[in-house]
Amino acid sequence: MSQLEIKNLHVSIENKEILKGLSLTVNQGEIHAIMGPNGTGKSTLAYTLMGHPNYMVTEGEIIFKGKNLLELEPDERSRAGIFLAFQYPVAIPGVTVANFLRSALNARRRALNPEDKGLPILEFRKMLKEKMDMLKMDHAFAGRYLNDGFSGGEKKRAEILQMAALKPEIAILDETDSGLDIDALRVVSEGVNALSGPDLGVVVITHYQRLLNYIKPQFVHIMMHGRIVESGGPDLALHLEESGYDWVREKYEEVPEV
Ligand code: ADP
Ligand code: MG
Repeated sequence: MSQLEIKNLHVSIENKEILKGLSLTVNQGEIHAIMGPNGTGKSTLAYTLMGHPNYMVTEGEIIFKGKNLLELEPDERSRAGIFLAFQYPVAIPGVTVANFLRSALNARRRALNPEDKGLPILEFRKMLKEKMDMLKMDHAFAGRYLNDGFSGGEKKRAEILQMAALKPEIAILDETDSGLDIDALRVVSEGVNALSGPDLGVVVITHYQRLLNYIKPQFVHIMMHGRIVESGGPDLALHLEESGYDWVREKYEEVPEV
């Protein structure tokens, strides 16, 4: 069983510490939600896991399948079976969703077996159609240029389709913070619900308090001031929905440095 283990992670951006001792363990087959108000470092965690060069890990470790994830380049992380969807995916005009997925998939297959010649095109198309049917997506979507003029919901749809095709062991989905984009959240949650099972571990990162209307995580974590301060089951998300974050803020008030 694959495992992602984050231990006492400290991360700085431009010498400002954003993550301050974050710990989290995610196993294949588990669905986790990380919730927290804006500015607590949720996206910083996602970018650090991706290997974004601006995010400096100053302390702690990230172990994926027994290996130090921090030593892997971003593309190696992806090929190793960790999937990261981003808040602001880039547009790639001229590259269709299908072609993008095919190169990503073949790269992942080659990482598992250097002799792999890639999935033959007909098999790839068949697989893609099956995944699109499972996710209730229009097949025409595969022929569009990746993220070019996509709505928030369509970007999420492209990410979920990528996740379905790549079959990662652990997926990190950072939810959009641009207002309450319910369409995007619905796409993500329907995708996660359709794809979840013993082979997939998921971390859904969101600031949206009514998460449970959409997704059923087994584990819910509250993030505040750069670390996870509370962990529990779905009841914790319910509590947040009823009471908001004020009680968390009060309980974990930051003491200003002198
Ligand atoms: P969240 O996703 O929880 O809203 P972020 O991880 O985006 O939080 O941001 C956490 C903190 O890091 C914020 O105070 C934000 O201003 C700061 N921050 C994020 N990105 C940068 C950056 N590129 N440069 C400087 N500060 C940043
Ligand atoms: Mg964010």
